[in-house]
Amino acid sequence: MNWSFRLGTVLGIPIRVHFTFLILLAFFSFSEASRSGASAGLRSLFFMVLLFSCVLLHELGHCVVARRFGVTITAITLYPFGGIAVLNEIPREPAREILIAIAGPVVNFFIAAGLFVSVVFLMPSEHLELSALTGADLLGSLFSANLLLGLFNLIPAYPMDGGRILRGILASRMPYATATHWAARIGKVFGGLFVLGGIVLQDWWLPVLGVFLYIGANSEEQATLLHTAMEGLSVKDLMITDYLSASPADTLSMVLGRSFHTFQEDFPVLRDGSFLGVLTRGRLIEALREEEGDRFVQSVTQPVSGWVSPADPLREALKRMNAERVSLLPVLEEGRMVGIVTLTGILRGASVLAGRPPAR
Ligand SMILES: [Zn+2]
Repeated sequence: MNWSFRLGTVLGIPIRVHFTFLILLAFFSFSEASRSGASAGLRSLFFMVLLFSCVLLHELGHCVVARRFGVTITAITLYPFGGIAVLNEIPREPAREILIAIAGPVVNFFIAAGLFVSVVFLMPSEHLELSALTGADLLGSLFSANLLLGLFNLIPAYPMDGGRILRGILASRMPYATATHWAARIGKVFGGLFVLGGIVLQDWWLPVLGVFLYIGANSEEQATLLHTAMEGLSVKDLMITDYLSASPADTLSMVLGRSFHTFQEDFPVLRDGSFLGVLTRGRLIEALREEEGDRFVQSVTQPVSGWVSPADPLREALKRMNAERVSLLPVLEEGRMVGIVTLTGILRGASVLAGRPPAR
């Protein structure tokens, strides 16, 4: 389930807000209001909205630079712990990756500099006190928040911005997978330190961030290893030639009976040897529980128009599966079906291969 909603579009990038973020907004303004009155609550709400606008600008900074390098951006989502921009295929060139990563904190430093200038030069001098720059005043709080945001994101804890910069620097001296491995290790150490620091300082926010860092470092490392393992592999290396299929004229219960004798998750639907689409195990069970009950496979087959050939790179197969949102593709050679590739098969095979030390 998708727990976020679309707020709008900036520079052609959909901006989404996770609903837990709204809970955070409500929580802070209500607790402030109950402590110091309604106007304080409103002020705190206003500050949070301004602060997250800065977080959004930080993410847009990453996106603008990434787009210059031809990266497409799926969306920016705002979470209570910050923003995340979903970039497709970050370039594996250290210099570009460093520039994309550094762009976010740079935006915060620019905002902080702008606020500093406006507070120091534009305010009448009789209003200017040191407190204006130390957090007592709204602009002052925003100034210190941006300075903190910029500095905090530069901590070399992968997958935070500073960690990505570190990975870029390492990757210019060693293979990409090894650089990721070390950056992720350092990221996990920071994750642990954040948890410990939170316990010592009795702060709940640091441990939450630490856990996110640890999980993030782990999953990004796995993804990079998979990606690296998949390089140089083609469809024929992981295609499945021994599989069960279904016919559009079979009934669902017939396929269910067969499915108990195999680990196979997805079944190609074939008519006279030609490929029509996919019936997944999940859809099969779901369809049998629906009101219509048992019926012909044809009526629940997900049509698939894409296909791959044995010589295609494995990454191409994944790209086409993604584009069609399917978990299985037929492998065709001279118009004849010679096998299938499945998402689970690819991930299983590549993760076994990724367990080997990098070849380069
Ligand atoms: Zn960032």
